[in-house]
Amino acid sequence: MPIENTTAPPSGGKAVLTRGGLQALIEALARRGYRVVGPTLRDQAILFDDIEGIADLPAGWTDVQDGGTYRIQRRADDALFGYAVGPHSWKKFLHPPRISLWRAAKDRDSVTIDNDPEPTTAFAFIGVRSCDLHAIAIQDRVFLSGPYVDPHYQARREGAVIVATNCGEAGGTCFCVSMGTGPKADSGFDIALTELLDETGHVFLAEIGSERGRGVLAEIPCDPAYHEHVAAADQLLARTAANMGRHMQTDDIHSLLLGNLEHPRWDDVAGRCLTCGNCTMVCPTCFCTSVEDTSDLAGGAERSRRWDSCFTEDFSYLHGGSVRQTARSRYRQWMTHKLATWIDQFGSSGCVGCGRCITWCPVGIDITEEVRDIREHPTASEATI
Ligand code: SF4
Ligand code: SF4
Repeated sequence: MPIENTTAPPSGGKAVLTRGGLQALIEALARRGYRVVGPTLRDQAILFDDIEGIADLPAGWTDVQDGGTYRIQRRADDALFGYAVGPHSWKKFLHPPRISLWRAAKDRDSVTIDNDPEPTTAFAFIGVRSCDLHAIAIQDRVFLSGPYVDPHYQARREGAVIVATNCGEAGGTCFCVSMGTGPKADSGFDIALTELLDETGHVFLAEIGSERGRGVLAEIPCDPAYHEHVAAADQLLARTAANMGRHMQTDDIHSLLLGNLEHPRWDDVAGRCLTCGNCTMVCPTCFCTSVEDTSDLAGGAERSRRWDSCFTEDFSYLHGGSVRQTARSRYRQWMTHKLATWIDQFGSSGCVGCGRCITWCPVGIDITEEVRDIREHPTASEATI
């Protein structure tokens, strides 16, 4: 959107990029040696993959989401970031679904042990939503703070450049406003873009979030940002915030859930839940893994780590049986951890309101509905798990 008859001076810490400027930004990151990853259209969904330029972005597509449903749809314009979030989150790259921890091979009388080297190419993520910035910050706390640092996450996270995009569209299952995590990126990025698109033009208001971001922007053609650009971005974000598809009242949620551990709603949701674990796979903060050993007929063996889910019966298996044998106990464990005991453990909620678990639940179970029902029909029950 070219601003005509501008009278105001450029705003500090901000600049304006054209589509060509965005292409130059992606090329500058690749030139600096980053592996550039961003949204692409594939398999009827918007997924994260390696990109070389703006031609790889899902221009002119949006997503329509509700409980248990997701479809992509043509937009009336050519917006490059005109959708909410898809099934992928950035944990796919920072905390991959499966990693090999070591491999052993037998050769006559000797055994050699090998492990995959950690990646040495740093990531540059393009199009990170505010909810996902908060999810990355949560996983940083889980994997990098405290006495035990996860070296695999650390190797992938260190040096990663983040180009955020503020949300111009709220998804049908989004509730970041309720969780205080969006729709505007407030920290954790190197550069944050707001896509401004109307009949007069198509530009990106860029906000600098770090010295590294400033250095990259200094390499590419930018125009000054004027107060009119900032006002247009503020207006867009206010509209997105007002159009959240879902809402969750979070006051006293810790005591609400832990004070209702025997609520009949847990039986109700257990009657619908398939314990498939989809919600945990798509959740950008869920981090549980299991370690497994495999061997082959040639004498080789491998130890690997893969995502696991608290929805499987095996996940809580201890000697003699599983601790959480029912769908009721597994759903209750997931939701009370996510929204209540996560606060005790990590100092924040484990939910960023991205809505993925609602969209990708095959039976459309909605975490906001579950909380609402318990809040509206509280029962006195023992606070024991
Ligand atoms: S809540 Fe939905 S996605 Fe999660 S385990 Fe149950 S059926 Fe699967
Ligand atoms: S619990 Fe659901 S809404 Fe919350 S962060 Fe995870 S996937 Fe997103």
